[in-house]
Amino acid sequence: MLFVNIFEKTNPENPMNKGTDFYIKAGQRAMAWHKAHIERMRQCRFDTIAVHGIYSMQEALDFNQGSIVEPVYMSTSQTYRDSDEMEAALSYQIPTWCYARIANPSVYYYEGVLALLESYNCSVEAGCVATASGMAAVQSAVDPFLIVDPRKPNAKLNFVATCQVYGGTFQQFAIRKDHEKNIEWRKVINSLDLNEWESKIDENTRFLYGELPSNPSQAFFDIKKVADLAHKYNLPLIVDSTVATPALLRPLEYGADIVVQSVTKSLFTSGFGIAGAVIAKKDIASNIDNPAMKADFCGYLKLLPNRDNGPNISPMNAILALNDMRTIRARMDVMSRSTMKVAHYLNNHRHVEHVDYLGLENHSLHKLASEYMFLVDSEHDELYGEKVNRYGHLMSFRVKGSIRQTRDVFDAFQRIWRATDLGRIKSVATIPAISTHQQQGEEGRKIAGIPGNLIRLCVGMEHPDDIISDIEMALGVLDGKPVSKSSPEYSAGGASSALLK
Ligand SMILES: *Cc1c(COP(=O)(O)O)cnc(C)c1O
Repeated sequence: MLFVNIFEKTNPENPMNKGTDFYIKAGQRAMAWHKAHIERMRQCRFDTIAVHGIYSMQEALDFNQGSIVEPVYMSTSQTYRDSDEMEAALSYQIPTWCYARIANPSVYYYEGVLALLESYNCSVEAGCVATASGMAAVQSAVDPFLIVDPRKPNAKLNFVATCQVYGGTFQQFAIRKDHEKNIEWRKVINSLDLNEWESKIDENTRFLYGELPSNPSQAFFDIKKVADLAHKYNLPLIVDSTVATPALLRPLEYGADIVVQSVTKSLFTSGFGIAGAVIAKKDIASNIDNPAMKADFCGYLKLLPNRDNGPNISPMNAILALNDMRTIRARMDVMSRSTMKVAHYLNNHRHVEHVDYLGLENHSLHKLASEYMFLVDSEHDELYGEKVNRYGHLMSFRVKGSIRQTRDVFDAFQRIWRATDLGRIKSVATIPAISTHQQQGEEGRKIAGIPGNLIRLCVGMEHPDDIISDIEMALGVLDGKPVSKSSPEYSAGGASSALLK
């Protein structure tokens, strides 16, 4: 079912009280027309889909005053021509958006483009449900599986997920599910080990879950093999591929059933807001007896669980994010190349103990990542003419020194922003042990591989030479070199005294 009102314009000659049938027929025509447009878009290259999404000139002219960009529908609800149309709409028999907790035209455009990008060049058809955040997307993707089986009401449920996950996901799994709801998180420590995955699955397992690559440790697993394993047990594989974005990796193509995106990050690079999405293929695997959910997970999620739970995105954020997505491929290319340059620089630096970047050949997962992470359409790019690997812009490095010295280096950055963020158009860095991964404790950080001297760095769209010189200056602190001050009042190594006065 579609969620945008794309009927023929109201015809004044049409009498009222036409009956619901009239609307259902009109709805079918509108849906056929709209579906055909989406099919045409599906034939386009990735950049064209990212730029135009599912919004067409015809739709602009007929319904949106000719607006060449998707309008922001700041409206809670939709009005209907008469009670017949309302009845047909609210029984979901015609395209409608009803009420903005369930759907909204602006949100629909956002969902449409993400569904096409995640299923690009892939035989499967995908649906998408927008959420207010990446965490709401994780919750929306996993909760429908964590339900009691009426045939086994007392069984203790479990799910199998890698332990190298984003800090918020770690907390959601460890505290909200495992601790508070008694749903066991069976942690996979070495996600390359298929036997470890398999040994944790039993008849009460509901899904397999992993992050690819993981934030911040850049763990990577063989997605095709883990998907096959999941399907052997009739379970869905859910993958968070926020760090890669669909420009570098599309898990559905390799057998994943559901993809989670924290759209907040690289897709919504400007940093105006928080956004998320669940993208799923049709006919997913699951040992739950719910044919509607399996046939169209996103349609089901949108109309039922998310309608009732309300984790929806605002139309304003949807359109702001959608506008950034148009350039995702070119940005991921430039940011990946810049990150590679910075990683090489750091790799040769005497004050750096270790650099973690999947793009570096000495990274233990480099070969595996190289089988999966490609710049989409690079073979059709005049510049490259062949498939080229790109590894994204998440990297980390460990300072050769104490935790205090690591903080001194971090505090000396003048151009790289100190923020618990990534995917920004501006370079940002954080110390995960005291920020994103603080709450999971020493032990949780140990198994996730996050020591206190690790700085996570996400290179933005600046010229990489300027980022390198900022890092060079910051690492120079370890030689006792003064920090070159960007403004006279600023004293690095602590809060600005001038500002505090
Ligand atoms: C940031 C992040 C999330 C959470 O997304 P929000 O939009 O901040 O809620 C989930 N997964 C990964 C990999 C992330 O980086």
